Amino acid sequence: MKIMPNRMDRGFYQYQEEFEKKALEVLRSGWYVLGNEVKQFEEEFAAYVGSKYCVGLASGLDALWLAFRILGVGEGDEVLVQSNTYIASVMGITINGATPVFVEPDAFYGIDASAIEDKITDKTKAILVVHLYGQACEMDTICAIAKKNNLYLVEDCAQSHGACYNGQMTGTFGDVGCFSFYPSKNLGAFGDGGAITTDNAEVAEKMRIYRNYGSEKRYYNMVVGTNSRLDELQAGLLRVRLSHMQELTEEKIRIGERYDRELKNDAFALPKRREHANHVFHQYVIRTKQRDELIRHLDEKGIGTIIHYPIPPHLAQAYEYLGFKKGDYPVAEQFADEVLSIPMYNGMTEEEQTYVIEALNAFRL
Ligand SMILES: *Cc1c(COP(=O)(O)O)cnc(C)c1O
Repeated sequence: MKIMPNRMDRGFYQYQEEFEKKALEVLRSGWYVLGNEVKQFEEEFAAYVGSKYCVGLASGLDALWLAFRILGVGEGDEVLVQSNTYIASVMGITINGATPVFVEPDAFYGIDASAIEDKITDKTKAILVVHLYGQACEMDTICAIAKKNNLYLVEDCAQSHGACYNGQMTGTFGDVGCFSFYPSKNLGAFGDGGAITTDNAEVAEKMRIYRNYGSEKRYYNMVVGTNSRLDELQAGLLRVRLSHMQELTEEKIRIGERYDRELKNDAFALPKRREHANHVFHQYVIRTKQRDELIRHLDEKGIGTIIHYPIPPHLAQAYEYLGFKKGDYPVAEQFADEVLSIPMYNGMTEEEQTYVIEALNAFRL
Protein backbone atom coordinates (compact mmCIF):
# COMPACT_ATOMS: atom_id res chain seq x y z
CA MET A 1 0.00 0.00 0.00
CA LYS A 2 1.19 3.54 -0.74
CA ILE A 3 0.29 6.16 1.85
CA MET A 4 1.30 9.79 1.56
CA PRO A 5 1.70 12.02 4.62
CA ASN A 6 -1.17 14.16 3.37
CA ARG A 7 -3.84 13.74 0.69
CA MET A 8 -5.50 16.99 -0.25
CA ASP A 9 -7.41 15.36 -3.10
CA ARG A 10 -9.33 13.30 -0.53
CA GLY A 11 -10.56 16.51 1.04
CA PHE A 12 -11.85 17.59 -2.34
CA TYR A 13 -13.69 14.34 -3.12
CA GLN A 14 -15.36 14.37 0.31
CA TYR A 15 -17.55 17.26 -0.87
CA GLN A 16 -16.87 17.24 -4.61
CA GLU A 17 -20.36 18.18 -5.74
CA GLU A 18 -20.62 21.14 -3.41
CA PHE A 19 -17.17 22.44 -4.37
CA GLU A 20 -17.87 22.13 -8.08
CA LYS A 21 -21.23 23.83 -7.78
CA LYS A 22 -19.71 26.73 -5.84
CA ALA A 23 -16.79 27.09 -8.23
CA LEU A 24 -19.12 27.34 -11.22
CA GLU A 25 -21.31 29.81 -9.39
CA VAL A 26 -18.33 32.09 -8.74
CA LEU A 27 -16.90 31.68 -12.24
CA ARG A 28 -20.24 32.63 -13.75
CA SER A 29 -20.80 35.57 -11.40
CA GLY A 30 -18.30 37.87 -13.10
CA TRP A 31 -16.96 39.09 -9.72
CA TYR A 32 -13.66 37.58 -8.65
CA VAL A 33 -11.90 39.52 -5.88
CA LEU A 34 -13.30 40.90 -2.59
CA GLY A 35 -17.00 40.43 -3.15
CA ASN A 36 -20.00 38.78 -1.60
CA GLU A 37 -18.34 35.39 -1.05
CA VAL A 38 -15.51 37.05 0.89
CA LYS A 39 -17.98 39.05 2.95
CA GLN A 40 -20.08 35.97 3.72
CA PHE A 41 -17.02 33.93 4.55
CA GLU A 42 -15.73 36.61 6.92
CA GLU A 43 -19.05 36.65 8.76
CA GLU A 44 -19.28 32.87 8.94
CA PHE A 45 -15.67 32.42 10.04
CA ALA A 46 -15.96 35.11 12.73
CA ALA A 47 -19.07 33.32 14.03
CA TYR A 48 -17.32 29.95 13.93
CA VAL A 49 -14.31 31.23 15.87
CA GLY A 50 -16.42 33.36 18.19
CA SER A 51 -14.81 36.70 17.47
CA LYS A 52 -16.51 39.93 16.43
CA TYR A 53 -14.60 40.47 13.20
CA CYS A 54 -12.78 38.51 10.55
CA VAL A 55 -10.87 40.04 7.65
CA GLY A 56 -9.93 37.80 4.72
CA LEU A 57 -6.37 38.08 3.40
CA ALA A 58 -4.14 36.44 0.82
CA SER A 59 -2.08 34.25 3.20
CA GLY A 60 -1.23 33.35 6.76
CA LEU A 61 2.07 35.19 6.54
CA ASP A 62 0.22 38.36 5.54
CA ALA A 63 -2.07 37.93 8.54
CA LEU A 64 0.98 37.80 10.81
CA TRP A 65 3.00 40.69 9.46
CA LEU A 66 -0.03 42.91 8.95
CA ALA A 67 -1.14 42.23 12.53
CA PHE A 68 2.17 43.52 13.87
CA ARG A 69 2.20 46.41 11.39
CA ILE A 70 -1.23 47.55 12.52
CA LEU A 71 -0.41 47.15 16.21
CA GLY A 72 2.61 49.38 15.60
CA VAL A 73 5.22 46.75 16.47
CA GLY A 74 8.37 47.41 14.46
CA GLU A 75 11.96 48.68 14.55
CA GLY A 76 13.43 48.59 18.06
CA ASP A 77 10.66 46.38 19.45
CA GLU A 78 10.97 42.81 20.68
CA VAL A 79 8.42 40.06 20.20
CA LEU A 80 8.52 36.83 22.22
CA VAL A 81 7.93 33.71 20.14
CA GLN A 82 8.62 30.00 20.62
CA SER A 83 11.90 28.66 19.28
CA ASN A 84 10.39 25.58 17.59
CA THR A 85 7.87 27.32 15.33
CA TYR A 86 7.48 27.36 11.57
CA ILE A 87 9.63 30.11 10.13
CA ALA A 88 6.62 32.11 8.86
CA SER A 89 5.79 33.07 12.46
CA VAL A 90 9.21 34.66 12.78
CA MET A 91 9.03 36.34 9.39
CA GLY A 92 5.78 37.98 10.47
CA ILE A 93 7.87 39.72 13.13
CA THR A 94 11.05 40.51 11.21
CA ILE A 95 9.32 41.87 8.07
CA ASN A 96 8.34 44.79 10.29
CA GLY A 97 11.91 45.30 11.51
CA ALA A 98 11.07 43.99 14.98
CA THR A 99 13.33 41.50 16.77
CA PRO A 100 12.19 37.98 17.62
CA VAL A 101 13.17 36.85 21.11
CA PHE A 102 12.93 33.09 21.33
CA VAL A 103 11.38 31.23 24.22
CA GLU A 104 11.77 27.45 24.38
CA PRO A 105 8.70 25.22 23.91
CA ASP A 106 7.06 23.06 26.57
CA ALA A 107 6.37 19.32 26.28
CA PHE A 108 3.28 20.05 24.16
CA TYR A 109 5.23 22.01 21.52
CA GLY A 110 3.68 25.32 22.57
CA ILE A 111 5.58 28.27 24.08
CA ASP A 112 6.75 27.41 27.60
CA ALA A 113 4.59 29.80 29.62
CA SER A 114 6.83 29.49 32.67
CA ALA A 115 9.82 30.78 30.68
CA ILE A 116 8.18 33.88 29.21
CA GLU A 117 8.62 36.43 31.99
CA ASP A 118 12.40 35.93 32.17
CA LYS A 119 12.63 37.17 28.60
CA ILE A 120 10.63 40.38 29.00
CA THR A 121 12.67 43.58 28.65
CA ASP A 122 11.87 47.30 28.25
CA LYS A 123 11.68 46.66 24.52
CA THR A 124 9.17 43.80 24.63
CA LYS A 125 5.94 44.79 22.88
CA ALA A 126 4.17 41.54 22.15
CA ILE A 127 3.92 37.79 22.63
CA LEU A 128 3.27 35.63 19.58
CA VAL A 129 1.89 32.23 20.57
CA VAL A 130 1.80 29.44 18.00
CA HIS A 131 -0.74 26.68 18.58
CA LEU A 132 1.57 24.26 16.84
CA TYR A 133 0.32 20.99 15.30
CA GLY A 134 -3.25 21.78 16.39
CA GLN A 135 -2.99 22.05 20.16
CA ALA A 136 -3.51 25.31 22.06
CA CYS A 137 -0.76 26.88 24.17
CA GLU A 138 -1.16 27.38 27.94
CA MET A 139 -3.52 30.32 27.43
CA ASP A 140 -4.58 31.01 31.04
CA THR A 141 -1.03 31.76 32.11
CA ILE A 142 -0.04 33.51 28.90
CA CYS A 143 -3.05 35.86 28.88
CA ALA A 144 -2.30 36.81 32.49
CA ILE A 145 1.35 37.54 31.65
CA ALA A 146 0.40 39.65 28.63
CA LYS A 147 -2.07 41.63 30.69
CA LYS A 148 0.23 42.14 33.66
CA ASN A 149 3.09 43.35 31.46
CA ASN A 150 0.90 45.36 29.10
CA LEU A 151 1.95 43.37 26.03
CA TYR A 152 0.05 42.70 22.85
CA LEU A 153 -0.91 39.08 22.39
CA VAL A 154 -1.02 37.73 18.85
CA GLU A 155 -1.98 34.14 18.05
CA ASP A 156 -0.62 32.17 15.12
CA CYS A 157 -3.59 29.88 14.44
CA ALA A 158 -2.36 28.59 11.08
CA GLN A 159 -2.46 25.04 12.49
CA SER A 160 -5.25 25.37 15.04
CA HIS A 161 -8.60 25.95 13.29
CA GLY A 162 -11.16 24.55 15.69
CA ALA A 163 -8.72 24.00 18.56
CA CYS A 164 -9.89 25.25 21.97
CA TYR A 165 -8.46 26.00 25.37
CA ASN A 166 -10.98 25.72 28.21
CA GLY A 167 -13.66 25.45 25.53
CA GLN A 168 -12.69 28.79 23.99
CA MET A 169 -11.47 28.82 20.39
CA THR A 170 -7.92 29.75 19.55
CA GLY A 171 -7.94 33.06 17.72
CA THR A 172 -10.08 34.74 20.39
CA PHE A 173 -7.59 35.04 23.24
CA GLY A 174 -5.31 37.72 21.89
CA ASP A 175 -5.54 41.10 20.20
CA VAL A 176 -5.36 39.40 16.81
CA GLY A 177 -5.72 35.78 15.66
CA CYS A 178 -3.85 34.95 12.45
CA PHE A 179 -5.08 32.13 10.22
CA SER A 180 -3.78 30.47 7.08
CA PHE A 181 -5.98 28.59 4.62
CA TYR A 182 -3.11 27.02 2.71
CA PRO A 183 -4.51 23.78 1.22
CA SER A 184 -2.92 21.45 3.80
CA LYS A 185 -4.26 23.32 6.84
CA ASN A 186 -7.22 22.04 8.82
CA LEU A 187 -9.41 24.57 7.01
CA GLY A 188 -7.78 24.61 3.60
CA ALA A 189 -8.54 26.47 0.40
CA PHE A 190 -7.62 25.36 -3.13
CA GLY A 191 -4.85 27.90 -3.32
CA ASP A 192 -3.53 30.48 -0.89
CA GLY A 193 -5.65 32.34 1.64
CA GLY A 194 -5.53 33.76 5.13
CA ALA A 195 -7.47 35.87 7.62
CA ILE A 196 -7.31 37.64 10.93
CA THR A 197 -9.88 37.53 13.70
CA THR A 198 -10.27 40.24 16.32
CA ASP A 199 -12.77 41.84 18.67
CA ASN A 200 -11.21 45.23 18.05
CA ALA A 201 -13.16 47.26 15.48
CA GLU A 202 -10.24 49.56 14.79
CA VAL A 203 -7.86 46.69 14.05
CA ALA A 204 -10.41 45.13 11.68
CA GLU A 205 -11.01 48.44 9.94
CA LYS A 206 -7.28 49.08 9.50
CA MET A 207 -6.77 45.56 8.19
CA ARG A 208 -9.41 46.13 5.49
CA ILE A 209 -7.57 49.28 4.46
CA TYR A 210 -4.08 47.75 4.51
CA ARG A 211 -5.05 44.70 2.46
CA ASN A 212 -6.22 46.86 -0.41
CA TYR A 213 -3.31 49.26 -1.05
CA GLY A 214 -4.16 51.33 1.97
CA SER A 215 -7.45 52.53 0.59
CA GLU A 216 -11.00 52.39 1.81
CA LYS A 217 -12.34 54.28 -1.13
CA ARG A 218 -10.79 53.29 -4.43
CA TYR A 219 -7.82 55.49 -5.45
CA TYR A 220 -7.84 57.42 -2.18
CA ASN A 221 -4.84 55.88 -0.43
CA MET A 222 -4.38 56.64 3.24
CA VAL A 223 -1.39 54.47 4.15
CA VAL A 224 1.23 52.42 2.31
CA GLY A 225 -0.62 49.14 2.39
CA THR A 226 -0.25 46.00 0.35
CA ASN A 227 -2.21 43.72 -1.93
CA SER A 228 -3.46 40.97 0.31
CA ARG A 229 -6.95 40.44 -1.00
CA LEU A 230 -8.77 37.14 -0.70
CA ASP A 231 -10.40 36.07 -3.94
CA GLU A 232 -14.00 35.04 -4.42
CA LEU A 233 -13.23 31.53 -5.62
CA GLN A 234 -11.20 30.70 -2.51
CA ALA A 235 -13.71 32.38 -0.21
CA GLY A 236 -16.60 30.48 -1.80
CA LEU A 237 -14.78 27.14 -1.55
CA LEU A 238 -13.75 27.92 2.02
CA ARG A 239 -17.42 28.50 2.86
CA VAL A 240 -18.23 25.01 1.63
CA ARG A 241 -15.45 23.49 3.72
CA LEU A 242 -16.32 25.63 6.76
CA SER A 243 -19.91 24.36 6.67
CA HIS A 244 -18.47 20.86 7.31
CA MET A 245 -15.83 21.96 9.79
CA GLN A 246 -17.29 20.13 12.74
CA GLU A 247 -17.31 16.73 11.05
CA LEU A 248 -13.87 17.39 9.50
CA THR A 249 -12.42 18.25 12.91
CA GLU A 250 -14.08 15.25 14.55
CA GLU A 251 -12.69 12.99 11.85
CA LYS A 252 -9.12 14.14 12.55
CA ILE A 253 -9.61 13.80 16.29
CA ARG A 254 -10.91 10.25 15.74
CA ILE A 255 -7.80 9.31 13.75
CA GLY A 256 -5.56 10.93 16.39
CA GLU A 257 -7.30 9.03 19.19
CA ARG A 258 -6.95 5.76 17.32
CA TYR A 259 -3.21 6.40 16.92
CA ASP A 260 -3.02 7.23 20.64
CA ARG A 261 -4.77 3.98 21.51
CA GLU A 262 -3.15 1.57 19.12
CA LEU A 263 0.41 2.78 18.58
CA LYS A 264 2.64 0.79 20.90
CA ASN A 265 6.39 0.92 20.49
CA ASP A 266 9.11 2.03 22.89
CA ALA A 267 11.12 3.33 19.95
CA PHE A 268 9.02 6.49 19.76
CA ALA A 269 6.93 8.76 21.99
CA LEU A 270 3.35 9.80 21.22
CA PRO A 271 2.14 13.42 21.42
CA LYS A 272 1.19 14.56 24.92
CA ARG A 273 -2.17 16.16 25.56
CA ARG A 274 -2.40 19.45 27.39
CA GLU A 275 -5.06 19.62 30.06
CA HIS A 276 -8.00 21.90 29.10
CA ALA A 277 -6.97 21.79 25.42
CA ASN A 278 -8.45 19.68 22.64
CA HIS A 279 -5.96 18.56 20.01
CA VAL A 280 -7.29 18.91 16.44
CA PHE A 281 -4.27 17.18 14.87
CA HIS A 282 -3.14 19.42 12.10
CA GLN A 283 -0.23 17.02 12.46
CA TYR A 284 0.22 13.86 14.47
CA VAL A 285 3.81 14.26 15.65
CA ILE A 286 5.79 11.45 17.25
CA ARG A 287 9.33 11.70 18.57
CA THR A 288 12.21 9.27 18.29
CA LYS A 289 15.96 9.17 18.61
CA GLN A 290 15.99 6.65 15.75
CA ARG A 291 14.33 8.91 13.22
CA ASP A 292 16.44 8.10 10.18
CA GLU A 293 15.89 4.39 10.70
CA LEU A 294 12.17 4.83 11.30
CA ILE A 295 11.75 6.96 8.18
CA ARG A 296 13.54 4.29 6.15
CA HIS A 297 11.45 1.50 7.68
CA LEU A 298 8.20 3.32 6.83
CA ASP A 299 9.41 4.31 3.40
CA GLU A 300 10.12 0.66 2.58
CA LYS A 301 6.47 -0.05 3.35
CA GLY A 302 5.31 2.81 1.13
CA ILE A 303 4.45 5.18 3.99
CA GLY A 304 5.52 8.79 3.64
CA THR A 305 6.36 11.06 6.57
CA ILE A 306 7.38 14.72 7.01
CA ILE A 307 9.58 16.52 9.53
CA HIS A 308 7.94 19.64 10.93
CA TYR A 309 10.57 21.20 11.07
CA PRO A 310 14.15 20.05 10.53
CA ILE A 311 15.81 23.43 11.18
CA PRO A 312 14.62 25.72 13.98
CA PRO A 313 14.30 29.39 12.92
CA HIS A 314 17.32 30.58 14.95
CA LEU A 315 19.55 28.28 12.86
CA ALA A 316 17.97 29.13 9.48
CA GLN A 317 20.26 30.77 6.97
CA ALA A 318 17.72 33.58 6.65
CA TYR A 319 18.37 34.52 10.27
CA GLU A 320 22.14 34.29 10.33
CA TYR A 321 22.13 38.04 10.94
CA LEU A 322 20.55 37.52 14.35
CA GLY A 323 23.81 35.84 15.39
CA PHE A 324 22.52 32.62 16.98
CA LYS A 325 24.46 29.37 17.02
CA LYS A 326 23.78 25.70 17.62
CA GLY A 327 23.19 25.08 21.31
CA ASP A 328 21.38 28.38 21.97
CA TYR A 329 17.94 26.73 22.09
CA PRO A 330 18.58 23.08 22.98
CA VAL A 331 14.92 22.09 23.39
CA ALA A 332 13.95 23.36 19.95
CA GLU A 333 17.07 21.77 18.49
CA GLN A 334 16.28 18.42 20.10
CA PHE A 335 12.72 18.55 18.76
CA ALA A 336 14.04 19.39 15.30
CA ASP A 337 16.23 16.26 15.48
CA GLU A 338 13.51 13.94 16.77
CA VAL A 339 10.02 14.94 15.54
CA LEU A 340 8.24 13.06 12.78
CA SER A 341 4.75 13.64 11.39
CA ILE A 342 2.95 10.48 10.34
CA PRO A 343 0.08 10.36 7.82
CA MET A 344 -2.97 12.31 9.02
CA TYR A 345 -5.60 13.73 6.72
CA ASN A 346 -9.32 14.02 6.19
CA GLY A 347 -10.58 11.11 4.14
CA MET A 348 -7.94 8.70 5.48
CA THR A 349 -9.50 5.22 5.37
CA GLU A 350 -9.55 2.84 8.34
CA GLU A 351 -7.55 0.42 6.26
CA GLU A 352 -4.86 3.06 5.70
CA GLN A 353 -4.81 3.86 9.41
CA THR A 354 -4.43 0.17 10.27
CA TYR A 355 -1.57 -0.19 7.79
CA VAL A 356 0.27 2.79 9.30
CA ILE A 357 -0.29 1.54 12.86
CA GLU A 358 0.94 -1.97 12.05
CA ALA A 359 4.03 -0.64 10.27
CA LEU A 360 4.90 1.65 13.18
CA ASN A 361 4.34 -1.06 15.77
CA ALA A 362 6.53 -3.46 13.81
CA PHE A 363 9.53 -1.12 13.85
CA ARG A 364 12.58 -2.60 15.56
CA LEU A 365 16.08 -1.26 15.39
C1 LIG B 1 1.31 27.66 7.35
C2 LIG B 1 1.78 28.46 8.48
C3 LIG B 1 1.97 29.85 8.38
C4 LIG B 1 1.92 30.60 7.08
O1 LIG B 1 0.76 30.51 6.36
P1 LIG B 1 0.79 30.75 4.78
O2 LIG B 1 -0.64 30.83 4.41
O3 LIG B 1 1.52 29.62 4.16
O4 LIG B 1 1.49 32.07 4.54
C5 LIG B 1 2.31 30.56 9.52
N1 LIG B 1 2.49 29.93 10.69
C6 LIG B 1 2.34 28.60 10.83
C7 LIG B 1 2.53 27.99 12.18
C8 LIG B 1 2.00 27.81 9.73
O5 LIG B 1 1.87 26.50 9.88
